[in-house]
Amino acid sequence: YVAKEERNRIHLYDQRMHAADANDDVTAELLRSAVKEGLVSVVFQPIVDVRSGRIWAAEALMRLKDRHGRAISPDRFIPLAERTGAIHELGEWILREACDLLANEPSLPVVSVNVSAKQICDAGFADAVEAIVRAAKIEPARLALEITEGGQISGNPEVSRLMGRLSAIGIRVWLDDFGTGFAGLTCLSELRFDMVKIDRFFVQNCNTLRGAKLLKNIVDLVGSCAQSTIVEGVEEAEQIELVTSFGVELFQGYHLGRPMLKQELVSRLQGEAEAASAA
Ligand code: C2E
Ligand code: MG
Ligand code: MG
Ligand code: MG
Repeated sequence: YVAKEERNRIHLYDQRMHAADANDDVTAELLRSAVKEGLVSVVFQPIVDVRSGRIWAAEALMRLKDRHGRAISPDRFIPLAERTGAIHELGEWILREACDLLANEPSLPVVSVNVSAKQICDAGFADAVEAIVRAAKIEPARLALEITEGGQISGNPEVSRLMGRLSAIGIRVWLDDFGTGFAGLTCLSELRFDMVKIDRFFVQNCNTLRGAKLLKNIVDLVGSCAQSTIVEGVEEAEQIELVTSFGVELFQGYHLGRPMLKQELVSRLQGEAEAASAA
């Protein structure tokens, strides 16, 4: 027995689910030809060293438009690309873009690229990354791969072997979105990362005493594992001021710069270099 209201809800839910599925079908089809059709692009968000006030790195973030020019959120198309397998082609495409920027901008120390667990677990991944780095003729240590904590990462011998290979090549591996998943602490204790990015959730809740204490403890925890930290998602100057007092030097967030086109990043780098030589 289902009450009428309940039946209507189920009906509505059903319709919505079908609509979502149909959308996903369209996007899955789009993802298959997105690189070929030029529907993917990349933006770069600065990571700033507050000691010098200068850009130390930039995170490459993928963007996708449908054939009508409408943007599709990464939170939607990345999980879908992981399910359909399109992530492999997209992932290599953005790695090439990142290495291209590094090759053209010797003044930018590091560029980071997000990689999903699906890519990391692929047997050919390390070879593919190495080939891209070699082709771009860049110093491998200028490339960082951001891995999001998760069940597929911890307790996975494939992942620790891959990380060993990447660090033998000299490529940096960073842990992304630390603190939001269930496996963050396991990841941190099992694997050696060159950097830990603390999820924006914590800085965005640090305006209370409780939130500030929590963030300080997370920073200390990461530091006790001898890992360096980037705090993500800073939107206000006061947040940077507070977290700097915890010993953090690297920050990323709207307050320091939104994800931007390559040309914008390049002119910011040029501006910083000119200001430094004038000083
Ligand atoms: P993420 O790697 O944690 O990237 C940071 C996200 O936070 C980006 O969202 C960025 O635009 C946003 N963000 C940065 N600063 C601020 C801030 O101050 N406030 C707020 N509210 N947000 C901020 P975006 O670009 O929408 O990407 C979402 C996620 O999609 C990324 O999270 C990453 O997990 C995934 N993603 C993006 N590009 C790629 C890619 O090329 N490959 C893979 N595998 N995943 C990607
Ligand atoms: Mg990231
Ligand atoms: Mg993140
Ligand atoms: Mg993420």
